Parts: sequence; C-alpha cells; structure tokens
Amino acid sequence: MSNKKPIETLQENASGFFDKINTKYASQIKCSEGCSKCCYTDISIFKVESERLLAWFNSQSAETKIELQTLWKGTVEKGACTFLYADRCSVYEARPVICRTQGAPLYLASENSLDYCPLNFEQGDPPKEDWLNLERLNTMLSLAAKTSGLDERIRLKKFKAELLAL
Ligand code: SF4
Repeated sequence: MSNKKPIETLQENASGFFDKINTKYASQIKCSEGCSKCCYTDISIFKVESERLLAWFNSQSAETKIELQTLWKGTVEKGACTFLYADRCSVYEARPVICRTQGAPLYLASENSLDYCPLNFEQGDPPKEDWLNLERLNTMLSLAAKTSGLDERIRLKKFKAELLAL
C-alpha cells in the first residue's frame, strides 16, 4: 500500500497558495474559468499523481465516466494539454501540482528569476513574501513521489490513453 498522504497534502497546499494569492491580489490576477493560456503544454507527471487522477476518475458515476471518455476521444487544439477541452480542464478537481500554481509568482532561485502569467500583476512584481519557490516545490514533489513508491513519470497523453482503455 503506497503512502499517498504527502502528495495529497502538497496538492492541497499548492491550491491553498494560489487561492491566497488570488484573494490578496484579486484586482491583479486575471486567472478565471475559461482562461486556459497556461494549458498549452504537454506535461509529464509522477505516477503518484496519475494514481490520484485515476482514483478521481474511478470515483465518478458510470454516466460521468462515459461522458469523460467520450470527451477524451475528441481531439484537442494544437499545442493544448490532452485534457483541455473548450478551454476547460476536464480533470480539474484532480489536476497535478504543477497546474495548481500556474499564474502565481514562481521564483527560480538558481536563476534568480521570477515568472508569472503576463496577464497578471500588470502593476509590477508582488513582494517576495508572496513568491513560490519553484525548486523547493519540485523537491517536495519528488519526495512525495518517492515516499509513495510511485516516482516514475508518465506523459499525460499516455495516461489519457490508459483511461480510455478502461
Ligand atoms: S491537466 Fe488540466 S490544468 Fe493541467 S495543463 Fe492539462 S488542462 Fe491544464
């Protein structure tokens, strides 16, 4: 039995961080339902997160599962994440950690650089106390994956194919 608690906590904390920033800088954050600019990407995730996605999928009603699988058989826009349909994340409730922090101020200590969606913070960088240290987050993510024993990586595209085969 693998230990999923660390990844659950990390996902919750990542969402909590974003919510805190979104509330604090409400007038400067443009992230909202229907904006999917940060979802034009092809990511891979640790298996511990694909297992969380699988558990979420398995918890859906039979009807919802069929609706999701029907949706996923459709093509996505060029360059878009394999789970992005009509500008919405079709796995939003169980999305990976990396997706939960998009749009927030992400600090890369090794390059001393700060990154965030160009639509946000048009008035300039928020103060340092509101930056998320991306390398620290990635270290915690790796640790959570190792602790669970599910630390191999899988591309979301491949994972979607597995969900379609269920
Ligand atoms: S999993 Fe969802 S939130 Fe993450 S990149 Fe794909 S569509 Fe966007």
